[in-house]
Amino acid sequence: MKRVAILGSTGSIGTQALEVISQNPQHFTVEVLTAHNNADLLIEQAIQFQPNTVIISNKEKYLYVQQSLDKYMIKVFAGEEALAQVVEMDSIDIVLGALVGYSGLIPIINALKHGKPVALANKEVLVVAGQLVNKLSHQHNAAILPVDSEHSAIFQCMAGEFEYGNSIEKLFLTASGGPFRGYTQIQLQSVTKQQALKHPNWDMGAKVTIDSASLMNKGLEMIEAKWLFGLDAKQIEIIVHPQSIIHSAVQFFDGSIKAQMGLPDMKLPIQYALSYPQRVPSTFPRFSFWDYPQLTFEKPVIENFRNLHIAYEAIAKSGNMPCIMNAANEVAVQAFLHDKISFLSMSGLIEKTMQHISYIAQPSLDDYIHTHNESIAYAQSLL
Ligand code: MN
Repeated sequence: MKRVAILGSTGSIGTQALEVISQNPQHFTVEVLTAHNNADLLIEQAIQFQPNTVIISNKEKYLYVQQSLDKYMIKVFAGEEALAQVVEMDSIDIVLGALVGYSGLIPIINALKHGKPVALANKEVLVVAGQLVNKLSHQHNAAILPVDSEHSAIFQCMAGEFEYGNSIEKLFLTASGGPFRGYTQIQLQSVTKQQALKHPNWDMGAKVTIDSASLMNKGLEMIEAKWLFGLDAKQIEIIVHPQSIIHSAVQFFDGSIKAQMGLPDMKLPIQYALSYPQRVPSTFPRFSFWDYPQLTFEKPVIENFRNLHIAYEAIAKSGNMPCIMNAANEVAVQAFLHDKISFLSMSGLIEKTMQHISYIAQPSLDDYIHTHNESIAYAQSLL
């Protein structure tokens, strides 16, 4: 029985993780639930799953959550510090990192420092501070298990390979292409957030859906893959695969390619990360070849989706550059969601911020925190 702490239980990954757990009560139990703002759903989840502790980040909602859960003997804490500290609990076997963006960094670092394995959905943690996060994972013998579907695919392909030193020659990171695949520059100039929020294949939160439309998500995932699998960015090729059936592929030194496939459903990678190294049975819908007589592949159009180029530039410079890129992107996505910036201007905002903020080749955790705050402030000043 694994006791799970879900950081971000009311989001898309969090709610799907609870579905996985409710279908496998003999394998998993919920120890901690945390939410940023959605107190009502957090309370509902807590009553159903009876965790030891819940955290509501927004302190203004503490009293409401605490009073609602009082009679269930569930401990309630509030605030960012409580969120960062809760991962230290002895009774936690695995932490599911499903927060959005930079906000996941400190809690995940703290979980690793306390030797907790982390099932990581929150890719920005590795984008911002991959080198540091990897170092802590090794120092404290705390595994990072990918939840992102592409990285889960690669991880599944690597089962039984790493142990024998069979290293990766090349990665094929698949991308659906998002809702604007095939759009020209002119068409992209006038796309709206309503269009951007309609992802063709995946049902996800707003941040990652906008990132998918702008292909920044694939840029972030390229950097995530680099750190998870110890690769050079040049070894990672992005392949647009509109059906989202092949979730990614690995080419080994002998030229053999392994891919992992299935219907686009985040519950499978969530379950695999939680149950690893075992697989546990599921009732998720099964893939049928007869429903997909053709799987197709295209090159991404970098001229129209500049964010891909920006991400390769950021990781080539490394240091705090991906942290700057990520912070500026978080500002750009929020601005786009609030109609303050056009779809194509997001890339310009990110590039300007990357040019402005001081570069640090070997950042400490404090440097990352400082870089993030400075980049957020600068990107906001550009709006
Ligand atoms: Mn993904």
